[in-house]
Amino acid sequence: MKTWKLWIDGAWADSQGGSLTPIENPATGEVIAQVIDASAADVDRAVRAAHTAFYDGRWSRLTPSERSLVLWRLAEKLEANAETLARAESENTGKPYAFVSLGADMPFGVDNLRFFASAARDTHGYSAGEYAKGFTSIYRREPVGVVGQVTPWNYPLMMAIWKIGPALAAGCTVVLKPAPGTPITTLMLAELAAEAGIPPGVLNIVTGGNATGQALVEHPDVRMVSLTGSTGTGKQIMRTAADTLKRVHLELGGKAPLIVFDDTDVENFAAVATLTSTFNTGQDCTAATRVYVQQGKANDVLEAIVEGMRSVKVGQPFEDGVQMGPLISARQRERVQGFIDRAKGYGAKVLTGGVVPTGMDRGYFFEPTVITDVDQRSEIIQSEVFGPVLTISTFKDDSEAIRYGNDVLYGLAASVWTRDIGRAMNVARELEFGTVWINDHIPLASETPHGGFKQSGFGKDLSAEAVNDYRITKHVMVKNG
Ligand code: NAD
Repeated sequence: MKTWKLWIDGAWADSQGGSLTPIENPATGEVIAQVIDASAADVDRAVRAAHTAFYDGRWSRLTPSERSLVLWRLAEKLEANAETLARAESENTGKPYAFVSLGADMPFGVDNLRFFASAARDTHGYSAGEYAKGFTSIYRREPVGVVGQVTPWNYPLMMAIWKIGPALAAGCTVVLKPAPGTPITTLMLAELAAEAGIPPGVLNIVTGGNATGQALVEHPDVRMVSLTGSTGTGKQIMRTAADTLKRVHLELGGKAPLIVFDDTDVENFAAVATLTSTFNTGQDCTAATRVYVQQGKANDVLEAIVEGMRSVKVGQPFEDGVQMGPLISARQRERVQGFIDRAKGYGAKVLTGGVVPTGMDRGYFFEPTVITDVDQRSEIIQSEVFGPVLTISTFKDDSEAIRYGNDVLYGLAASVWTRDIGRAMNVARELEFGTVWINDHIPLASETPHGGFKQSGFGKDLSAEAVNDYRITKHVMVKNG
């Protein structure tokens, strides 16, 4: 079993005062590796390395073309090592291997990095002109400085790419802390980054739990913190960052509604709802969670979704044809079960699932679950469950659908289903979500911004907007003549 070190200043580093912590495979419950629970002293060393690397200009003063080339080479390295990375990701998260290697995680992650390599060279928004008589103004978009980045466990490698890609493209240096239970592929990424030519100190990885993250957020030399995580953690980080007035960039929880009008093709909708509520075992911030169906079609939609959810093949990540792996941990499974038990307690009806699949007592598996007869104000509608759980409710008309859709603290993603494009556009305009899909749910492209409204946070991952989030504008004013 491998014991991983920290990645500081371009090399593997021992801890100063940290302890070792086991890493589990959630599909079997077996320990697969050990990593360091980094101390505040380790975080300080990593930040100092990033600080030196930023101020001596080894990365920040490269031309965009030079930075782009290195990021492009890193994308090539990821692609060349895709099979090894995908295997490691599946073992560490329980995700179906076929999905990791062919779907969201690897091919999309590589494309994301290629996009950021190109975006490093984008000159859009840089301007110069005479705005005061006798002066020329120049806007410089400069990198913010040392960035502290904190990622979650649901897409460990892809989230690391979404963080380091735009930050490095902008010329920042980085200290990244992966989620405590899923650090392996992020550590592998660090070594590949060095091979690709990322200079020492530009990318540093400190593994550990919340206290390690807290030390990173508190560090006075960190200029900006970017988190993908829960809304509670986002609030805590924002409070801590206030002491040193750091810029914060928060990609937080979600509770996506799917608003289905009665002219929708039920079969197609049910297939998408099934896929997007069970993909990654529902542990996705944009996963389908709340279906609102117009009264006339309620029974048809309900039957089709129940049938779809019952057909999902749950199993071990390396088994052929498996569509859904386990939840990430015993704790997460207890959490999901708790939501369902409480929902039954207040009168909700579980139409399918809600239990551990029979015979699957190894690993943290859970059946795809459909719940109905739920009040709009109930916990199962209002809180993020982060499991393969879909609620189905009904609405009368457009304004009720919009009201129900918006009536949660979150605002990350939503979808509208109808053949009437005018109606779809009106509803999309009223929905307070960072992404609204029409007649689909979940697709993304590297060019499209991903980020929340309301308590889903602010700032964007992906797209050119993400790169700009890691830049600060400096105005240089020149007296003419
Ligand atoms: P989490 O908030 O528990 O942890 C996220 C990360 O924050 C971990 O690395 C954790 O160690 C760290 N952390 C916790 N407390 C901290 C503190 N006080 N200071 C610094 N770091 C701290 O979230 P999770 O359970 O790992 O991930 C699931 C959550 O992530 C869900 O809410 C999900 O919606 C959200 N998520 C959001 C997006 C998005 O793009 N908006 C994407 C994926 C996941």
